[in-house]
Formats: sequence, structure tokens, C-alpha cells
Amino acid sequence: MVRPLGHLPRADSVIRIALLGSTGSIGQQTLDVVRALPGRFRVVALAAGSRTGLLREQVAEFQPEAVWARPGYEADVLAREVGRDRWQPLEEMARRPDVGVVLVATSGIAGLAPTLAALEAGKAVALANKEVLAVGGPVVRAALEAHASRGAELRPVDSEHSAIWQCLWGERPEAIAKLTLTASGGAFRDYDVEALARVTAEQALAHPTWRMGPKVTIDSATLFNKGLEAIEARWLFDLPIDRIEVLQHRESVVHSLVTFVDGSVKAQLGEPDMRLPIQCALTYPERAASEPAPPLDLARRGSLTFSAVDHERFPALGLALEAARRGDTAVAALSGADDAAVEHFLAGRCRFTDIARALALALEAHRPTPAPTLEDLLAAERWGRAFVDDAVLARTLAGEVR
Ligand code: MG
Repeated sequence: MVRPLGHLPRADSVIRIALLGSTGSIGQQTLDVVRALPGRFRVVALAAGSRTGLLREQVAEFQPEAVWARPGYEADVLAREVGRDRWQPLEEMARRPDVGVVLVATSGIAGLAPTLAALEAGKAVALANKEVLAVGGPVVRAALEAHASRGAELRPVDSEHSAIWQCLWGERPEAIAKLTLTASGGAFRDYDVEALARVTAEQALAHPTWRMGPKVTIDSATLFNKGLEAIEARWLFDLPIDRIEVLQHRESVVHSLVTFVDGSVKAQLGEPDMRLPIQCALTYPERAASEPAPPLDLARRGSLTFSAVDHERFPALGLALEAARRGDTAVAALSGADDAAVEHFLAGRCRFTDIARALALALEAHRPTPAPTLEDLLAAERWGRAFVDDAVLARTLAGEVR
């Protein structure tokens, strides 16, 4: 279970944030939430992997105590401007005594070490990064449990997990029968299955309901994203993968559902806008009196639709779930394989349908390690990435890669 706070903050206390990944989509929307509630937050630390120019503007606006950018010429210039004494790596930011909530919105595996550092320091981690739990799930879960008595907690930021989390406030873990994650179906939900081999990166990046970064938008179009989310849900809410299901819901208004042992179903609804789950994760256990997303008008919407997922169109979802059944290193391997495959697709080196094909080949070739350590998980992730790189280089993916 996601742990409740040890000590509830007073409504008037300032929430002190370290924002890791401040220039990405979630990072920028987090700062929108901060701006909308003046006096409620203090941004103590800002870190970014790219877009140093935007980071510089954020530093000027929020005056954080600590700053970091991915090493390079631009980062060196910024480090001189802000002063070397304020330049601090992610893990140190995550452990700072003056930080209460660490929002991890970095992309990729870079979020894992600071997440573990924050949990070990007894902090609340608002988690927006998928790979942290997809690759490091068993290790992150163990760190959470080891340090929960000192205040360590995980708060989901992703809309689906935030919905489930909100449905579970005040409920007992043993009352949960199953979780249902909703999926919009992404950019290609209405395409001919045959036409999918010819779609372009530009078409795949046009998500029908959500505004997100490129990797997660492509993962939404393959539905691999939803497989990772089911795996994340398993670690966040401590449930076996077979009690987590996926339902297609085009409008992205019902963000996810929980079925309880008495058959009762709860759902959380809202306009598709990440600022609401971000605000929930920052202000928990309070609901701040500020509506960061446009109000939901169900009368105007008229109807909401639901249907089963088409596994022929979206084979990547089933592959992710199958990996979860085979073992934790299989999930890590597929996460690495997907990262590489999406990169190759965006660069025009393979077709959209080759992403799922690469995942299938990687899953077939991977030999899971039982009871893996963090090193085993990271090695599996690197193996998956290298496996796909090799397949693309050798043009063995489909035998017909561009
Ligand atoms: Mg999501």
C-alpha cells in the first residue's frame, strides 16, 4: 500500500519541494501548480536533464537553494552563474533536510537513485517516472517498507495511479478485489491494423487526449505504456499483476477504477489534465482549494465510452503483462528494449510495428534472474536496450526494416 503520512502537515505549513526533471512536461506543469497556490510551496531544488535555457528562467523565478543540470557546456555556464555552492547532484537534493516532497519527473532510469535516496531519508516521493518502478520495482518497494516508519512514502503522479490512490483513501488494503486502469487507446486506436506498419513518428506523436513528452506518447500509441502502468500499480498498491486489468476508455475522463470485495466500484473522474494529480501528490493528505484543471462538465460531455482492449492492434500491452508474470528482470529487460525501440522509431530507423516486434523478440531471448538485486535489474535493462540496438543494426527485426 501507499503509506499515509506519519505526521500530517498543517494547512498553513509551507510544502518544500525538490523538483527533479523541471523542464519536461510534468516538471513545467508542477511549476504551474506552484504558481497557482502562492505561499503554499517553496521550490528548494530544481534539476533538469535538458533545456538549460528554460532551467535558467525557472531558477530566476523560484530562487531555489540547489540547482543541477546534465553535464555539458550549457550546464557549466549555468553552474558558474548560480554558484558552485548551489550546484548539487540529484541524490543529494533528494536527501536535503529542508525538503519534504521529492517530485521525481526525470525521464528514464536516472530517477531510480534519487528515489531510493529520498525514501532512505524518510521523505515523501511524488513519482511521475515510469522506469523507476518498471525497472526498480522490487528494490523501491523494499526501501519504502524499510523506511515507512520514518516517513518514507510513495505518492503516484500518473493520472491512473493517482485515481486509484484517491479511490483508496480511507479504504483497507484487504478490501480491494481488483484495479482497472483506463487507456485512451492512443493515436492509432481507429487505424486499420494493416496501416500501422506505415505510420510516421509525427502521426504517433499526436495523442488524442493528453499532452505529454515524446517517449510516453509513443508508448501510449503502442499501449506498452499501459503495461508499464499495470506493473507500477502492482508495486504501488502491492497487488498481484493478475488482479490489475486494462479497459479502453476513449475520453480519458474516468482516470481509473477500483473494485472492492463487496462488488462496489469507485472511480475518479476529471478533465485530462496532469496538474490535478500533481497537486494531489504535492498537498496530500489535503485537497488544496485550487482547481488546476478545467472543471469537468459531464452534461456537456454527454456520454463516456468503454470497450475491451484490442490485443491484435496493441500486442505490446500483452507482452508487458507476460514479462511481469515471468519475472522482474524480464520487465526491466522489456523496459530497456522499449526505450531503444522507441528511439529507433522516432529516428526513422524502424517502423512503428517493429516496436512490439522488438519487445516480443527480447522477451523470447531473455532468461529471467530469480530474486534479482538492483544490479541484476539494471543489467537486464541494459541487456534489453543492447538487444534491440543490435537487432536494428543487424536489420533482423522484421527482415524488412527501412
Ligand atoms: Mg498514464
